[in-house]
Amino acid sequence: MNTIEATLQSKRETAKQYVKKIYNATEQRNPHETEFLQAVKEIVDSLIPVLARQPQYMKSGILERLLEPEKVISFRVPWVDDQGNVQVNRGYRVQFNSALGPYKGGLRFHPSVNASIVKFLGFEQIFKNSLTGQPIGGGKGGSDFDPKGKSDMEIMRFCQSFMTELYQHIGPETDVPAGDTGVNAREIGYMFGQYKKLRGAFEAGVLTGKGLEYGGSLARKEATGYGLVYFVREMMKDNDLDFNGSNVIVSGSGNVSIYAMEKAMEFGAKVVACSDSNGCIYDENGINLDTVKELKEEDNERISAYAEKHPHAQYLEDCNEIWSIPCDIALPCATQNEIDGKTAETLLTNGVKVVGEGANMPSTIEAIDMYLDNTILFAPAKAANAGGVAVSALEMAQNSSKLMWSFEKVDARLQEIMKDIYQNSMQAASDYGTPGNLAAGANIAGFVKVADAMIEQGVI
Ligand code: NDP
Repeated sequence: MNTIEATLQSKRETAKQYVKKIYNATEQRNPHETEFLQAVKEIVDSLIPVLARQPQYMKSGILERLLEPEKVISFRVPWVDDQGNVQVNRGYRVQFNSALGPYKGGLRFHPSVNASIVKFLGFEQIFKNSLTGQPIGGGKGGSDFDPKGKSDMEIMRFCQSFMTELYQHIGPETDVPAGDTGVNAREIGYMFGQYKKLRGAFEAGVLTGKGLEYGGSLARKEATGYGLVYFVREMMKDNDLDFNGSNVIVSGSGNVSIYAMEKAMEFGAKVVACSDSNGCIYDENGINLDTVKELKEEDNERISAYAEKHPHAQYLEDCNEIWSIPCDIALPCATQNEIDGKTAETLLTNGVKVVGEGANMPSTIEAIDMYLDNTILFAPAKAANAGGVAVSALEMAQNSSKLMWSFEKVDARLQEIMKDIYQNSMQAASDYGTPGNLAAGANIAGFVKVADAMIEQGVI
């Protein structure tokens, strides 16, 4: 080993020890927050080459500061159900980092929501938002409220109570929430109405994902799913692969899944399976998306009803069974940790060539290692599902200029943004010695911009 190599190795070792120390401290400070710690580990390990080359990030305490949210708000959400009973849920908003702009990130309503889930989502959002090139910081929120089986009036009362506390912490220049699992245009509408009443002002830019009549953006509903497919298409193009003629599996059947299926089909793919939390359907002739939309967007039905309408399709009573169905391209679009190491192995055995993440953190660290070790093309969530928040930022731009862009204009901008994210992530991966590794590249490209902005803004 020559002197240059020895110096490089020593810098790398210093960075490695530093990351280990930082991770251990985070673990001690946030015991039991499994999902948050998983997200932290995945990111900090990939930053070792950056810290080795730019030790100023260690000297400025960037990671120490990044790993601690700027503000965590937790609050009681009392509401009255249709039977007149008082119900109490817990609400959260984690304002993680505002180096690049107002906090931005969705609200999730799901019984599994807790501090760890909201923190993992908020932490990942910092890097994702940075990758979009838009001026937005990272945040996330939600509640352990379960919208399933609730009447429209119960949803309205819950949303109003949630906003009665949240409104004082958000604003178009402060923190701009959007939807996520369990929060779509209906919930955003109720929350916007309550915010407007409490503020006594129509501040369109306070929430995104709004209805088109009062400041929403065309193509926002489609943006995450379409963006995912645009990103994966770029990645496949570079590797002489194509959606056209490929068999695709998409988990979930919510907002992200439906529009990922739609765009993949438009590009000539055959989508053979999708799911909900009860089970999955397999239709070897290709899923009929109109039926899925009708069941999920209109009738609030379970995916099992698909097999009643299309008797040749199979219904499997375990949502994880979806990963046993052979496919060329797997698009996990349901929830975190859907694919563990063992499931990734099954996908690999069945010949999968591409995995593109629509959901946030749907693959465990073991699953990601499995993809990378076996040269499966892997599009990580932070980069591949950034289309939703990117179009949310375009919605904010339309709101502040009081203009409404055409669907085509927003969609064209979305395509450019996804292409840029892909290229910047590829570039960062090769600049830092891991060519082709988009997981590392996305983390690095997202991190560097936030870290530089934090240094310029001083220790605050
Ligand atoms: P939705 O609530 O619209 O849909 C979620 C879907 O996933 C539902 O079909 C749900 O089924 C299903 N699901 C939940 N858990 C499981 C499970 N364990 N196995 C199989 N299916 C399951 O949420 P979104 O589509 O908005 O969000 C999905 C993912 O994408 C989340 O990780 C979210 O954070 C992420 N995301 C969303 C963005 C957006 O713009 N909406 C932006 C970026 C990321 P069921 O109805 O039975 O619960």
